[in-house]
Amino acid sequence: MRRTVFIATIAGLLTLGAVAGCGGGTAGQPAVAASLPSADPSSGPPSSADAPPADGDAGVVVDASVVEQSALRPMQVETDDFWEEIAGLAQIPVKVNAPMRFLRGAETFECGGVELSAADRYGPTFCAPEDTIVVSETFMDAIGASMAMRADGTFADPAAEVGLYFLLAHQWGHNILEEMIAAKGADVTLIPSNQLEVTADCFAGLAIAGVPRVFTEKGPAAVLSLVSTYGERFTGIAGSPATREKAIAAGLAPSYDDRAGLAAGVTGCLTGQAPALATALGVG
Ligand SMILES: [Zn+2]
Repeated sequence: MRRTVFIATIAGLLTLGAVAGCGGGTAGQPAVAASLPSADPSSGPPSSADAPPADGDAGVVVDASVVEQSALRPMQVETDDFWEEIAGLAQIPVKVNAPMRFLRGAETFECGGVELSAADRYGPTFCAPEDTIVVSETFMDAIGASMAMRADGTFADPAAEVGLYFLLAHQWGHNILEEMIAAKGADVTLIPSNQLEVTADCFAGLAIAGVPRVFTEKGPAAVLSLVSTYGERFTGIAGSPATREKAIAAGLAPSYDDRAGLAAGVTGCLTGQAPALATALGVG
């Protein structure tokens, strides 16, 4: 089934039974990100996932539980807070929380007729019918084995940190998109799936720019560094790397301090990446 049809089918089925989101804005949080080098869309193609750790600070093999507790769960909180704030500023009537399920051992997760499992090799997967982002133990084991992290759960490899965050933020972008579509009851049957993909990329760029986490590396190559390895469980026609880099750069454009600019970026992502969808949603 084509992705666009799938989305149209599930758009009306999104449940609102998610757990409460984490409150709070980002007032008083560091703005160090604003002083970091900005993304340069022309700086090269995505690299492989095995870039060496920077500054000789070696990582070690860590357990999936470290990847979950030290990396993914904090990233979940930051992303949830970011979108709660930005959706409020942008006056988008969506419920942004997407619970995360971490599958271990023999656990599975039923997603609209597709069984996700702890053995899946894919990165975080947004299951639209259940409004949940699902993460497999196999994926977390792979991140742990990549030596991207230190024993204390911090990242030794800055490209892997932003690369991992992007995998999550792109899925969260799909969540935001589908919430917007559902809230408007928009007909997305004819929206090209590649436009939905780059819009999710652009939304991920907004999150990278706007969460309090300070990414010491966030060029397009680093942002996309894990995509080729961990792919996407449910995907439409993905944009070319160059197209994806442009979409990410558009999202990354506002500075951390420019919260109004980040909020305006939601409309900017839609009109720039998916004009027909922007029209269907009545924005732009
Ligand atoms: Zn996607």
